Amino acid sequence: MGKPTLGNPQNTIEILQKYEFNFQKKFGQNFLIDTHVLDKIIRAADITKDDMVLEIGPGIGTMTQYLAEAAGKVTAVEIDKNLIPILSDTLSTYENVTIINEDVLKLDLRKIVDEENGGRPIKVVANLPYYITTPIIMGLFENHVPLESITVMVQKEVADRMQTGPGNKDYGALSLAVQYYAEPYIVANVPPNCFMPRPKVGSAVIRLTRHGKAPVEVKDEKLMFDVIRASFNQRRKTLANGLNNSDKITFSKEIITQAIERLGHGGSVRGETLSLEEFAQLSNDLIGIAKTYLEETS
Ligand code: SAM
Repeated sequence: MGKPTLGNPQNTIEILQKYEFNFQKKFGQNFLIDTHVLDKIIRAADITKDDMVLEIGPGIGTMTQYLAEAAGKVTAVEIDKNLIPILSDTLSTYENVTIINEDVLKLDLRKIVDEENGGRPIKVVANLPYYITTPIIMGLFENHVPLESITVMVQKEVADRMQTGPGNKDYGALSLAVQYYAEPYIVANVPPNCFMPRPKVGSAVIRLTRHGKAPVEVKDEKLMFDVIRASFNQRRKTLANGLNNSDKITFSKEIITQAIERLGHGGSVRGETLSLEEFAQLSNDLIGIAKTYLEETS
């Protein structure tokens, strides 16, 4: 094994020139060129030699080198085939790294964790491609990929959205999903000059630590998230209208009205004012009230 050689502008440029690499905007390619930021990410991810790490989008292998030093093994998924020969070069001294040339959204990550780590929870660490941050994070949680934590670089605004609560303009389905599954913590803000090329937006490193036990009891997780999405899809409408207009929510108007009344905020309440606890209560009440109706009519 060698010491990390990348992570500064000079060595990054050298590698890019050697392979005549052209950045692909459509893949969200902004490579890290700041060793302090890399150190911070690795420290926040709290990796040991017992850990398997999944890296999404290794780029030219900058962070992968740091991860390979710290972890037992690293599996890195990169979509851009032009980066594969570069990764073979920059990671040639590390025997604990596997590169998969695929679109991460099309992979069965649960199966990979089962095969590579005997189903034991992994740690996800990445400087994410910003155009697919939400589907990546939601996919990891909703597909129940066994994981302990996710430490990722995301757009600053998205990091704020992940940790905010009701009453804030950034509050939405992503905030609720992240907080249902994990404890979010913003590790650092990162300015555009730490990347090559520079992104137009500010970035932040956020660590999401998976809850041992969900913070609320939910009878039907899928229903709760359908309710949440329906409430935020039509932000300017009342919660009742949002739920009645959604094709995913099949309860009658009467059941929806009763469940909303039980929340105690009146019939014109908006979804954006409800907490995770209240969304859990609402979805549980929808099921409970529907069951009572069914029993009464049978
Ligand atoms: N980890 C590198 C770094 O920090 O320098 C690169 C980070 S760059 C922001 C995002 C990386 O994700 C790029 O290498 C890009 O090609 C890759 N990527 C984009 N879409 C992807 C996808 N659907 N599946 C896997 N990798 C993807």
